Amino acid sequence: MHGFNLRRVAEYIRRADTEELLDRVTVYREGMEPAALDLMEGELDRRGVGRDEIARHGEERWAEAIRLPDGTALRCSFCSRPAVARNRGWHRVFGVLPVFPRLFAACGVHAPGRPGGANPPPDSGS
Ligand SMILES: [Zn+2]
Repeated sequence: MHGFNLRRVAEYIRRADTEELLDRVTVYREGMEPAALDLMEGELDRRGVGRDEIARHGEERWAEAIRLPDGTALRCSFCSRPAVARNRGWHRVFGVLPVFPRLFAACGVHAPGRPGGANPPPDSGS
């Protein structure tokens, strides 16, 4: 009755990346419906991802993630990964993207200038 459609969630979970499911059962856990968590943990189990691996993923994410007051991680502005950096005015860094929220959050993949091959968000091509 709260807009939670278990069948749709189950379909979504079957198509989701393993990395995304891992994020949801760890750093976003507090914000998840218990029924959805059960489904996600079941799907991870089906993919051969054990509890140790889930726990390790959570520890690695929390080592860098920014925790919100509700206990979940701040989400990247460009994808569903947890953010590791927060900045203002990144439009000057990215240049090609004129309109942005005033405050950005970016994960390890999307934060500019991070070691290990950080990339800007995908631009509009060509
Ligand atoms: Zn990202």
